Amino acid sequence: MREFDVLVIGGGLAGLVAATEAVDRGLKVALIDQEGEQNLGGQAFWSLGGLFFVDSPEQRRMRIRDSLELARQDWFGSAAFDRTEDFWPRQWAEAYLQFAAGEKRSWLKSQGVSWFPVVGWAERGGGHADGHGNSVPRFHVTWGTGPGVLAPFVRRAKGASDEGKLTFLFRHQVDRLTVTNGAVTGATGVLLAGDATPRGGSSSRNVVGDFEVKAGAVIVASGGIGGNHDLVRKSWPVERLGPPPKHMVAGVPVHVDGRMLSITQAVGGEIINGDRMWHYTEGLKNWDPIWPNHGIRILPGPSSFWCDVDGNRFPAPAMPGFDTLGTLKAIRARGHEYSWFILTKAIIKKEFALSGSEQNPDLTDKNLPLLLKRLGKNPPGPVQAFMDKGEDFVVRDNLEDLVAGMNELSGEYRLGVHHLRAQIEARDREMENSFSKDAQVTAIRGARNYLGDKLMRTAKPHRLLDPAAGPLIGVRLHILTRKTLGGLHTDLEGRVLNRENKPVPGLYAAGEVSGFGGGGMHGYNALEGTFLGGCLFSGRVAGRSVGR
Ligand SMILES: Cc1cc2nc3c(=O)[nH]c(=O)nc-3n(C[C@H](O)[C@H](O)[C@H](O)COP(=O)(O)OP(=O)(O)OC[C@H]3O[C@@H](n4cnc5c(N)ncnc54)[C@H](O)[C@@H]3O)c2cc1C
Repeated sequence: MREFDVLVIGGGLAGLVAATEAVDRGLKVALIDQEGEQNLGGQAFWSLGGLFFVDSPEQRRMRIRDSLELARQDWFGSAAFDRTEDFWPRQWAEAYLQFAAGEKRSWLKSQGVSWFPVVGWAERGGGHADGHGNSVPRFHVTWGTGPGVLAPFVRRAKGASDEGKLTFLFRHQVDRLTVTNGAVTGATGVLLAGDATPRGGSSSRNVVGDFEVKAGAVIVASGGIGGNHDLVRKSWPVERLGPPPKHMVAGVPVHVDGRMLSITQAVGGEIINGDRMWHYTEGLKNWDPIWPNHGIRILPGPSSFWCDVDGNRFPAPAMPGFDTLGTLKAIRARGHEYSWFILTKAIIKKEFALSGSEQNPDLTDKNLPLLLKRLGKNPPGPVQAFMDKGEDFVVRDNLEDLVAGMNELSGEYRLGVHHLRAQIEARDREMENSFSKDAQVTAIRGARNYLGDKLMRTAKPHRLLDPAAGPLIGVRLHILTRKTLGGLHTDLEGRVLNRENKPVPGLYAAGEVSGFGGGGMHGYNALEGTFLGGCLFSGRVAGRSVGR
């Protein structure tokens, strides 16, 4: 049996931050993961590296006026905390906002992290100043995307390992936390066979032995539940979002299995807000999958025409890039499993970004010439590849052919060309003036008042049926599982609480497994870029607390 001061379970971003912060406090740390070394970094490696900052130099350069007060209004308007168990999530939300408006950027910058200068405007919300959504752009894409966010922590962890201060234990799957005299004192589990499956792939669960590790404190940083669709369906908030979908694409690798939640519960850790989750409605089936049922999320600009499986346009605020769960609710309220975008080449070229480090080689590889091509006449390479090879795309020169192609793709033949033409022509008529009663057209024009959107993310307003903007494109959009907003209940020191709201001695949690802090610092809705940030913050808190 091996003994350490601290055992961190999970080598994702939260675990890496917690482990390195604990090492810096002179503690002897073990970092355990069920996957192999090639998977170090977990989900964050695949992420776009979008980070939520408040009143950053990048925002100011883009003439965005942001403030802690405005961010607080947006956060609490989105979170809509309404439960007694939201006491700690509220505290975490406030602490995280202060971090995002304060030390977060300088702490990362001092470790060599930098950001793309054009700030993105994600999740614009439901239409009310004090309701859900970002009043201003706050999504700062890291130069180097997810791997760029991970780099300093991987570097620090590997350095600590070389110095004998940190021990990596890969292919160690934790099955149980051990308790001695009421305190959590380590973990037991099985050793999994070595597996050369590339990063993100589904590795084997062949057992070759077992293990026990003893530690003065245990930090659970095992991620969410998005890779376990049965668990997602079981936790699904039917009263808020309608019945769970039968089919979803997976926005996360298989290792995001949620097993550690019940393992931690078994030693007294409480789970709160398990019904709060963040799944996207703009999922594509990846033509070149890394993990099983791999889905890629489109980060859409505001211009695509969005309709249900029968061709009925969604009402505002169910518009591209506005209200993730509002749109999910609109889809599921009708019992549908998917929806459609109809757009033009002019829109796809400027407005489709694909989430994922591998879908953005220019930003991930810090390749300026490739990045500049985004300003050119054609869609970025990865988007073009989906148009050419993705099974969810139909590209045609006129609406009749497009609708025929979309019907053929779904095999359901529910779309009628007359019904769609009437709605699209009505929308197109609203393009004649620089003002409009159509909420989406108004939103498009509003977006272009922001320099960043005008430059990179919002196509010049045009008629969808204008042949000059063509060809027309239909995109089938699947529901894509991603983030877990609830989780292990923690106080502001990252200590896991029991049912009586008392810390379970020796037990800490960080990252997605703890609802990014507190058991759900986002409440019901997220502002985006807040997940990696939540892992950074809660990992830092837990890693600094264990030494006290
Ligand atoms: C494609 C993609 C794009 C994203 N883009 C963004 C973005 O732009 N901005 C943003 O803020 N967020 C983004 N996210 C979300 C963000 O990346 C994740 O929420 C975050 O990385 C989760 O980190 P974590 O450390 O909590 O968990 P994980 O990264 O899931 O790591 C947990 C680790 O624990 C291990 N583990 C689990 N159970 C056990 C066990 N029983 N025994 C041993 N090991 C175990 C797992 O193998 C895994 O390595 C994105 C996610 C994806 C997938």
